[in-house]
Amino acid sequence: MPTSFSNLSLAEPLARAVAEMGYESMTPIQAQAIPVVLAGRDVMGAAQTGTGKTAAFALPLLQRMLKHENASTSPARHPVRALVLLPTRELADQVAQQVKLYGKYTNLRSAVVFGGIDMKPQTLELKKGVEVLVATPGRLLDHIEAKNAVLNQVEYVVLDEADRMLDIGFLPDLQRILSFLPKQRITLLFSATFSPEIKRLASSYLQDPVTIEVARPNQEASTVEQHFYSVSDDEKRHALKQIVRQRGLKQAFVFVNSKLGCARLARSLEREGMNTTALHGDKSQDERLKALAAFKAGEVDLLVATDVAARGLDIKDVPAVFNFDVPFNAEDYVHRIGRTGRAGQSGLAVTFVSPSDTRLVGDIEKLLKRKIELEAMEFEEDKPRGRINDGRRAWREAGEVGDPRDVLDAPREALDAPRERERERERAPRPQREYRAAAAPRDPFFDQPYEAPASETPPAWEAGAKPATSRVSANIKTKRKVAALFKSE
Ligand code: AMP
Repeated sequence: MPTSFSNLSLAEPLARAVAEMGYESMTPIQAQAIPVVLAGRDVMGAAQTGTGKTAAFALPLLQRMLKHENASTSPARHPVRALVLLPTRELADQVAQQVKLYGKYTNLRSAVVFGGIDMKPQTLELKKGVEVLVATPGRLLDHIEAKNAVLNQVEYVVLDEADRMLDIGFLPDLQRILSFLPKQRITLLFSATFSPEIKRLASSYLQDPVTIEVARPNQEASTVEQHFYSVSDDEKRHALKQIVRQRGLKQAFVFVNSKLGCARLARSLEREGMNTTALHGDKSQDERLKALAAFKAGEVDLLVATDVAARGLDIKDVPAVFNFDVPFNAEDYVHRIGRTGRAGQSGLAVTFVSPSDTRLVGDIEKLLKRKIELEAMEFEEDKPRGRINDGRRAWREAGEVGDPRDVLDAPREALDAPRERERERERAPRPQREYRAAAAPRDPFFDQPYEAPASETPPAWEAGAKPATSRVSANIKTKRKVAALFKSE
C-alpha cells in the first residue's frame, strides 16, 4: 500500500497544502481510505480520533470537487457539495479548520455551523455560497428551515464520529438531514465502533461501502504506563495532586464523568493553586475554545474534561491522563488513555477506583481482556481537610441539584434557539449513566471528615430523591427506542 502522499497524484494545490503541513507519509487510515474515496466508493471507517481521518476524507473530497472550482462571486456558483456532520461544536470547529488548511490553495470555500452562538454570521457566510459545509446536526436543521442552507446539490456526505452522534440522540436529526439530500451521492461514515446501531445506519444510508478498520478501540497503546489506584472518593483530589508533584508532570488531562463534577473539580483544584481549566458541555463556545487554546499553548496545566467535550479534540502527547472517575463505558477508557503515549512517546494513565466502581473496572477488564491489579495509594502527608464555609458557598453559588441530565454531556446546541433546547431535552442519556446521576452530588464540604453518620436523617435533597430509573423522562429515548426509529424507515 502506498504510504507517501506523492503516490496519490494529488492536484498541485492540495499537494502543496499537505507539504506545508509537514506530513511525511500517510497514516494507515489515509493510505486505505484516500484511494477508495478518490475512486468514488462509499466508506465505513473504524478509526479512532488522532489517526488522521480528517485528511483521509477531506483530501479526496476536495480533489473530486476541484472540477467545480471557480472564482465567481455569485453564490449560485458555490452550492454546498460536501456536507460533514459531527456531534459537537469543538469537533466541528476543529474539522472545519483542517478542511480550510487542506483547501487553502483552491477556490473551494468551506464554512462551519454549530449551535450555541449567533446564527447571523453563519447565515451571511452560507448565503455567499460554500462548497464544503461542516456542521452539527441541530444547528444545520435550523439553517435548513431558515432556508439559509440548500442541500439539493450535495454530492458527498461525511458522518463523522457517528457512534457519538447516535449516543447523543441525533438519529432523528440525521434522518431528517439525509432526507434533504440527493440519493445519488457518496457517503462516508466514521465511527470508533461498529455497534449494531451503526451497522443499521450504514445499511440504511451507505451503498456497498468499503469497510476500513485501522485501530480497534479495544487496543491499548503499549507505550502507556497504566495504574489503577484504590482510593475513596474523598482521597482522589489529594492523590491527584501527589502524583502530579511526585512525577513532576507539566500537563495532564483529568477525566470526570459529569459536567457537574467537571466544573466542581476544576474549581477546587484552581483554589488549591493548580492552573486548571474545565471543558464541558455547559461552557459557552467561546470559553471552550479559549480553554483549549490555553491548554495547547501550555498556559494551563490541568484540563478537566468530560468524555464528550474531549472526544476527538486535537490534543495529543499529553504526558499524563487521570481518570478521576472510572468511565461509564469501557471504550471511553481506551479513548481517554489514547491521549497519552502517542507516537512512540511514553505516557502515564492513572485511574482512581473507589469501592463503588467494581463493576466499571470489570467492564474495562472484559474489553482489554486482562486482569486489572488495583494498587494501594501511599499518601505522603495528612490529607488536608475541606474548608467548611468555602464548601457551603461553592455549593450555593453553583445552584447545583442532582439532575440526571447533568451526567450527560450532550452538546448544548444553540442555547439561543427554543427548538434546539427542546431537542436537547430529548437527547438520550444512556440508562446506566442515569443510575450514577442519582447519587448525591459531591462537594468538598460533604467530603471532609466530619460528615454526619449514616444513621442520621439524610438531607432533604437525598431523602426526596427517587431512584434514578424512575426519573427518566418520557422524552429520553433508550437504545431500544433508537433502534425502533430505524424500523419505521
Ligand atoms: P485527525 O485524526 O484527523 O483529527 O488528525 C489528528 C492530527 O494528526 C491532526 O493534528 C493532523 O494535522 C495530524 N495529521 C493528519 N495526517 C497526518 C499525517 N499524514 N502525518 C502527520 N500528521 C498528520
